[in-house]
Formats: sequence, C-alpha cells, structure tokens
Amino acid sequence: MANSTIAANNPTLKSWVNVPVGSDFPIQNLPFGVFRTSSLSARIGVRIGEHVLDLKTLHVLGYLDNLAFDATDFDTDALNHLMGKGKQATRELRNRISNLLDASNDELQKNTHHAEQVLIPNKSVIMLMPVKIGDYTDFYSSREHATNVGTMFRDPANALLPNWLWIPVGYHGRASSVILSGQNIHRPKGQIKPDPEKDPIYAPCRNLDFELETAFITYEGKPLGDSITPNEAEDFIFGMVLFNDWSARDIQTWEYVPLGPFLSKNFASSISAWVVTMDALQAYKVAGPEQHPEVLSYLKYEGEKSYDINLEVLIQPENGTENLICESNFKYMYWNMAQQLAHHTVNGCNVRCGDLMGSGTISGPTPNSYGSMLELAWKGTKPLQMNDGTERKFIQDNDTVIMRGHCESNGVRIGFGEVAAKILPAK
Ligand code: CA
Repeated sequence: MANSTIAANNPTLKSWVNVPVGSDFPIQNLPFGVFRTSSLSARIGVRIGEHVLDLKTLHVLGYLDNLAFDATDFDTDALNHLMGKGKQATRELRNRISNLLDASNDELQKNTHHAEQVLIPNKSVIMLMPVKIGDYTDFYSSREHATNVGTMFRDPANALLPNWLWIPVGYHGRASSVILSGQNIHRPKGQIKPDPEKDPIYAPCRNLDFELETAFITYEGKPLGDSITPNEAEDFIFGMVLFNDWSARDIQTWEYVPLGPFLSKNFASSISAWVVTMDALQAYKVAGPEQHPEVLSYLKYEGEKSYDINLEVLIQPENGTENLICESNFKYMYWNMAQQLAHHTVNGCNVRCGDLMGSGTISGPTPNSYGSMLELAWKGTKPLQMNDGTERKFIQDNDTVIMRGHCESNGVRIGFGEVAAKILPAK
C-alpha cells in the first residue's frame, strides 16, 4: 500500500485546536484511544494537544459520513471494531480527522457549538484499555539486550545463543494481565531460590524489574495456514504503544528451564493509552542494523523497516522526584516488526485483529541505554543512585516506573505520552 499519499502527515499542517509547544500530540499524530468521562460512556477518541476528540459524537453530528465506519465502531469500549475495517479505512478516517482539525478548514472550527461538544479537555477524561487483546506475543529482538543477559548468566565469549542471529526469538505471553498505564500492581510472590545450595522458598519477588519495550497492535491477519511476508507486514499493523513488560528476575531464574518464562512474566505488562498509528510514524522510518549472517529468504525485506523513536525510563520513589535512568531508541532493534510478524506467521500461525506483539527489551549500545534494571545495575553490582540519596539494584515497593517515547524531525514531534505504574507491596 503506497504511503506517499497520507495527507494527515503533512509537516506544515497547523490545527485550530491549541497544541502546546513540545506536546506529543500535534495534528500530525492523531493517536486513537478509548475514554469515558463522569457523564459520557466509553467511546473512541483521538488526542490533539490537551484535548480529546470524541469520535462518537463527531459521527452523530455527521462529520464522519462517507467513510467505512458506523456508530458502533465509535460507541464502544475498544478499538477492535474500528481496526476491523482495515488499513485503508483507518487511514481515510485519520485523514478526515486531520482535515476537520486543520486551521485552513473552518467546517468544524466555525461551528463553535459542535466544537465544544466534541473537544473534551484531556484532564477530564478517564482513559481505558484501548484494545481487547486476543493474544500477546513477546519477542527478544535487541542484540544488545540478549548479549548483556547472555554475558551475565552464561558466557561472555558466547553471549548470544546459536539461534539468535537466525530467528526473531519470541514466546507466547498472557493477554489477561496486560493492563493500562496508571493501574498499580502488587509485587508478585512465588518460588525463588536465593541460596543456590538450599531448597527454593516461597516469598515476594526480590528482584523486580521493568523491561523497556514498545508493542504493536495488529489488524486481522491472514487465515490459518497462510504467512505474512516482511514486505506485506505493515499492512497488518495498526499502531504502536509503549510497553513495560514487568519481570520478576529471581522467579524467572528458577522457573524458566526448560520451557521458558511463565509466572515471572505474566503478573502484569503495562501499555500506554494512546495507540500511535503506523501511518503517523511514516516520517520516522530509518534503516535498521545490518544483519549478518544473511537472513533466510522469508525474513528478507525491502526498504526501511526500523523507526527512530526516542525512549526513556524514569523511577519516581514515594514522595520523591523523577530520576532519569535510561535513554534508548527503538532503532537499535536488530529484528524489525515486519520480520517479527513474518516469523510469527511463517508456520501458518494466524494473527487476529487486536493481537499485541512486544518488541523485547530495547537496549542500546551504551550503559545508560540499557532497557532493564538487570542491565543498568548489572545484576546488582552497580546500583543506581537516586536523587533522594537512596540507591536501586531493582525496583522497590512504592516506586513508580515511567516510560516515555517520541519521534522528532522536520520540527514535528510525535509522541506516545507515557506508560506508568507504581509497585505496591506484596499482598
Ligand atoms: Ca519482555
């Protein structure tokens, strides 16, 4: 599908809706989400500056006619119906919304009674989970992360396992515990083995970690038995969110042999509320790392499939201020999303509308760009200093972990907002 015709991406567009300087949500972004207010039921919205555009009401007022959507696509508590209409339809919807918010078009702007009805201050909305997630898959696609982990736990000389440079390694996660930013979680409990010479014990996790990731959300894929090629892949991806894939490292160390992670990973994974469309990210495509050995034919792709997305992680202790502990970038990922989706479906596995695919921890080349506490504090040997005088090897009770992300070029900044959650003491 040609991407050169996305009118909504024009960097010169200005909205008649005020967008503060430095906002993640200019008219070139227009991410989709689900919200309600004290008086309005759950519905689909689009973020612009410090406002949320109510698509249900916009549709009722007749501004979204002659598109592929009907009332039930907007009067609903998930984006699945909307995504079910496919890429061309959602692209045309975003273009139409851009047109309505464009300063040079007075269609909605001049009708102040309507404008006041459909533009709701962001501070008065309650965000909800954007998608009913069917299946959640998590990849392990950062070479730096896999190398760091392999160095710590196995052999620095052979840090990458033999399959890593051939396969976008992944595993099936659990959708039920994917939660929205702002929902706090209790420290998980389980089996840990703090003394290698003694039996395991049942206790709260002592090495609680985050994983800095992004995730993509799919349109309906192909039927069971068919595969998606890397060059087709972006037609099957609706958009991206920030993703904190919480991890209990001590539970993981004991449980993961031989079938991989289980309870160390499935107690919670947090996502950001606004889904930034792949269309909005077009201007931030970059070439990915060179891949050697040459990938197998089904993983080969043409053009640029990586994205320049600046990412950061902050820890905010109880009653404290934010500490920036990591600055990374999505462009460092060895395997791109198109290859991940191609690999996921190469065996005929079917991907459905509303599936969530985690990137894997995004670590960059420098120690301040590592995407987990495990790596930043190097297995507890290099504690991080907080500006309140305390230090961290892992995440403590009542710490809030915040992740933010944005792209920037040609004077246009497109952001994801944030994903944040506080760790409460074990129940
Ligand atoms: Ca992960």
